[in-house]
Amino acid sequence: MRLSRAFLPTLKETPAEAQIASHRLMLRAGMIRQTSAGIYAWLPLGWRVLQKVEQIVREEQDAAGAQEILMPTIQTADLWRQSGRYDAYGPEMLRLKDRHDRDMLYGPTNEEMVTEIFRTYAKSYRDLPRNLYHIQWKFRDEVRPRFGVMRGREFLMKDAYSFDLDHAGAVRSYRQMFVAYLRTFARMGLKAIPMQADTGPIGGNLSHEFLILAETGESQVFLHKDLLDFDVLSQAVDYDGDLSPIVDFWTSRYAATDEKHDEAAWNAIPEADRVSARGIEIGHIFYFGTKYSAPMGLQVSGPDGKMVTPEMGSYGIGVSRLVGAIIEANHDENGIRWPEAVAPFKAVVINLKTGDAATDAMAEKIYGVFGQDAVYDDRDDRAGVKFADADLMGYPWQAIIGPRGAAAGKVELKRRATGERVELSLEDAIARIKGG
Ligand code: ATP
Ligand code: MG
Repeated sequence: MRLSRAFLPTLKETPAEAQIASHRLMLRAGMIRQTSAGIYAWLPLGWRVLQKVEQIVREEQDAAGAQEILMPTIQTADLWRQSGRYDAYGPEMLRLKDRHDRDMLYGPTNEEMVTEIFRTYAKSYRDLPRNLYHIQWKFRDEVRPRFGVMRGREFLMKDAYSFDLDHAGAVRSYRQMFVAYLRTFARMGLKAIPMQADTGPIGGNLSHEFLILAETGESQVFLHKDLLDFDVLSQAVDYDGDLSPIVDFWTSRYAATDEKHDEAAWNAIPEADRVSARGIEIGHIFYFGTKYSAPMGLQVSGPDGKMVTPEMGSYGIGVSRLVGAIIEANHDENGIRWPEAVAPFKAVVINLKTGDAATDAMAEKIYGVFGQDAVYDDRDDRAGVKFADADLMGYPWQAIIGPRGAAAGKVELKRRATGERVELSLEDAIARIKGG
């Protein structure tokens, strides 16, 4: 992407309405544009990050055995009347009427719809277990949309739904998602902690919220400090095998949000091991048994020929909220510091003197190697502007090329995360960026 032709706008002023760093930086870096309260357009830089986040979520869902579908955003109220939630859901649900005066709604979640789809096809125990997920926009008319994409009204969610023959199977599906979530967030460079949570309006009796620690988080959390040191990506995972070594590590140590906080259990932990902090919820998993399958008449024939009502769970990840959460965890006073895995571009090539033949040639060469994975700052602008924008946008690598360096065959390479700078030959610089 050549900056001279790209739509990668930035804002010089810090927007007054933005109260937290991620919101400020997303606006300043031109990632999003609010179109009405809590509703955002994703501009090229933001959209690239959102897609990277989404892809990691997808890969880990697939690895855990879930299958991707895509359900619509608009649903009929009839489905929700079957589960009894149409009246229960309240003003957060955006209700609409079509031209035939039928009650419709913009889905805040999809338990009813997925249950309706699944009951059409699932006939016997051989059709279980299954886990279906989609990554789709949701609408919740939040009382107080705020913090940008963290608490929007329209937001992108990954929601998965598991169907099992019995309780033991459902717990197994739950544990698979538990591990998939740990891996998903770790791949984005986040330390997400599963915490016992309330089950809320979706209902049920087994539930964990996944939170990252951040000063601006909306929840108060309490956890054992060991949980901050576990490296889940170094563990081999066999989703069909025994997941206890991973799951038990987490569930045997204290971690809870304030709703589930237990003072007595907390006080029993040595003071030096206690961490109490603010947290941002990025995912939530529920087991809720037959809460939807029973009223909606989902039944399959069991191995003995008797009809069985499948046990379900649902598993959400706030895909668009994650973009904000990642920035909360990775920024400094100059801007964003993208972890490589979700960076919108791997590198920016900064040309300090466009029009200088040797500088242009070297910059074009390095840009040519990375192509769509890099931004080329070929604008006719001051170096200070280019440096400030590069830091703000947070690309992991900055390859800085000026006439002096170009004449000597040298590139100055800056790593955004650490600020470390080195002078390298063109080949070495390319290899460094590739190596990550
Ligand atoms: P919260 O407690 O933050 O309101 P929730 O418990 O209502 O969230 P869930 O129904 O569990 O949310 O949805 C799954 C995930 O979707 C949440 O873990 C969160 O990451 C994300 N999410 C929920 N509401 C919003 C929102 N208004 N804007 C952005 N992401 C959201
Ligand atoms: Mg939740």
